Amino acid sequence: MAIDIMNPYEMAVAQFEDAGRRLGLSQAMRAILSKPKRELTVNFPVRMDNGDVRMFTGYRVQHNINRGPAKGGIRYSPQVSLDEVRALAMWMTWKCAVVGIPFGGAKGGVICDPHQMSHAELERLTRRYATEISILIGPDSDIPAPDMNTNPQVMAWIMDTYSMHKGYSVPAAITGKPLAIGGSEGRLEATARGVQFVTREAMRDRGMKPEETTVVIQGFGNVGSITARLISEMGCKVVGVSDISGGVYNPAGLDVYKTLRYSREHGGLKGLPGAEAVTNQELLELPCTVLIPAALENQLTRSNAPRIQARMIIEAANGPTTPEADMILNERGIPVIPDILANAGGVTVSYFEWVQDLQRFFWAENEINNRLESIMTRAYRAMCDKAEEQQVNLRLGAYLLAVARVAEATEIRGVYP
Ligand code: GLU
Repeated sequence: MAIDIMNPYEMAVAQFEDAGRRLGLSQAMRAILSKPKRELTVNFPVRMDNGDVRMFTGYRVQHNINRGPAKGGIRYSPQVSLDEVRALAMWMTWKCAVVGIPFGGAKGGVICDPHQMSHAELERLTRRYATEISILIGPDSDIPAPDMNTNPQVMAWIMDTYSMHKGYSVPAAITGKPLAIGGSEGRLEATARGVQFVTREAMRDRGMKPEETTVVIQGFGNVGSITARLISEMGCKVVGVSDISGGVYNPAGLDVYKTLRYSREHGGLKGLPGAEAVTNQELLELPCTVLIPAALENQLTRSNAPRIQARMIIEAANGPTTPEADMILNERGIPVIPDILANAGGVTVSYFEWVQDLQRFFWAENEINNRLESIMTRAYRAMCDKAEEQQVNLRLGAYLLAVARVAEATEIRGVYP
């Protein structure tokens, strides 16, 4: 199994190179775009509740800022590495470009286990990390947001820390904030809503009717759990879901509301009544119409790709499919709606939040959702058209659009000095 897993940065570069070659980008342009522009590593002390001081390591990487300020989330996890953050930053560049929002790509992360830390420890870690990366972040330079294991409360602490240093409130320095301090309606659900829109379009294109569609979702965090709800509200049957504790499966369909409540009350899905327990690996291979990985990188690999039974895959996670698995799924005729498009709803509403904060003028939720829908469906259509025109898979179709936009901006700005 382990040898099938790829270094995420190598994976991101391989995906980019595929598009760069096909677009006929110069050697120089390929060299520029395959490297992050800036990488900051910070080692910093945090006082724990028992009085001990522990050192933590965090990163902030900006991949490209030629189309606008750097943009991307902050992840807290024991598995965070510089190469993972580099990959996630590069994916953000393509993501913003493919949906046509004026941002570059960035990502941050702290190596820590937030489940083993108290609320107060998390606050101190967040405020110190925010201070350490404050030399990079700001409303015109680099705008963080939530990602795995970070949430609106963490964003509020970052906004407050940044604002304390400035001496006045700077809500536009960060997105995914609570509504009370300049957050946006619809941001919490935005990634899942975007996933829902592209799933709906991709199902329509293939004549899949919601009432005949079964869905398996890997991951039950912000994206996975809200996707489960929205997809079931569309009329699809959610038959399997999972979190870090493992998966639950019921071929007759899970009651999504009960499942959400159970997970909230029990701190996870483990032991959900009326469902069969499965491992996360088994979950991916369950019979279903649509498989939605909404957890981590490296989930669909060359070892399980031949056994995937889904008819379509929607990448709600970043980087869930290795290039080898992509090739196998392509040969098997299983379409993969790629991450940079499928999960772009989050950063799209982050863009709306940033615009609202800068203008101090806030929009109603239906306006947010309508604008999100039109951006997602237009980008989805453009990706399908490009893939069709070039006779390539959907990932390459999305990359051709995104990379061409970033390369054009990079070319036009020229090489300084
Ligand atoms: N972390 C999310 C992503 O991977 C959102 C980033 C943002 O809103 O800036 O797309």
